[in-house]
Formats: sequence, structure tokens, C-alpha cells
Amino acid sequence: MTKQSIKTTKEDIVNYWFFEQMIDESGLSVDAAEAYESCWRCGCEKRLERCHIIPESLGGKDEPSNLVLLCHRCHIENPNISDPEIMWDWIRAYGVPFYDTFWHHIAMKEYEFIYHKNYYDELADIGIPINGETELLIKKYSKELIKETGYHFGHPYLNAATLAGFYRMLLKKLAKKYGKTVLPPDYNSPRRPWWMGIGIKQDIQD
Ligand SMILES: [Zn+2]
Repeated sequence: MTKQSIKTTKEDIVNYWFFEQMIDESGLSVDAAEAYESCWRCGCEKRLERCHIIPESLGGKDEPSNLVLLCHRCHIENPNISDPEIMWDWIRAYGVPFYDTFWHHIAMKEYEFIYHKNYYDELADIGIPINGETELLIKKYSKELIKETGYHFGHPYLNAATLAGFYRMLLKKLAKKYGKTVLPPDYNSPRRPWWMGIGIKQDIQD
């Protein structure tokens, strides 16, 4: 909103955090080499915006120590609060172990929230085998199903609920192929991170 008035450059910000402060990169979605072109929170390669850690309205200054680089979407979602540690807690909380998987991570969180089951557990419980054939089917079906999703006007991305729904449709299609039944949500089942078990993170948004 006020980014035109920010005088600190993106270079100043990257230099400050990655070369002067030498922040711990281990839990981040980006490293120093990627910090100019990839969002520090979600890791996606988008045009980056300079984003205040402590907002201007709360007295945050226009200086590298008070700025990070985020994509537009993450800039909208970031915490606007007076404690500067919270920005880093938030950025690190969303650090993902694989490249370009951030929005699928969000989708899987949404999936688990809606269906109360981890996607991998879902596949296993339905009886869909996790093998090469299934992975090929996932790729094929993903390409078909992504055409059946849409963007909200003014939102240049698929939102979390749409992506979660995409995974549900994928599950139904796989179940049908294998002659299995998709079970209704089981609200007592345990949870675990979605990336444990199956690599269905790629080829979805091609
Ligand atoms: Zn982002």
C-alpha cells in the first residue's frame, strides 16, 4: 500500500539479513542465492514486495532491519504487529522442506481441516496402492482435474479450499479406478504431516 514510499532497496534488505545478520537459513523456504527472486515465506518465484516487519502505522521504520521480501499474496497475509519476532516466527513456521510445495502444503492443511484426515492416510485407508502405477495415474488425473478448477475474480491464484477440493476430486477418481469407495470424514483419526509418505507434490500446477 505504501511501498512506493519505501526508500530501502531490495538489495539492502537481502544484504542485511543474509550477509550482515547471517540469519539461520535452515528453516526458511529460501537461501541467500534465492532471496532476490523467491518469496521468503512461500518460496514461490514471484515479483517480491518490500514488507514491513513492524508496520509503519505502529512506528516501524524504513530500514533493512524492519523489512523482508514477500510475494503479493504473502504480503497480504503477513502479521502486522509490534513485536518483530512474530514476523520471523510466521515465516519460519511455513518453511517447507521441498521446493515449490508451499501452496500444496497449505492445501493439505485445508484438506485435513475439512476431511479431518491426512491425505496419505486417506489413500491407505481406502486401499489405493502407493506404487508407480498410482503415481502415473496421479500425474494424468492431475492434468485433467486442474482444468476443472478456477480462480476467483481478482485473485491470481487457486485458493486453499480450491486446491483441497482438487485433491478430494483426485482421490475420488483414483478410488473409482481401483474399484474402491471414498470414505466419509472420520473426525477421530490421528494427524501427521502430509508430505510423509507420497510425493504427489509435483506436476499439479504445470
Ligand atoms: Zn509468498
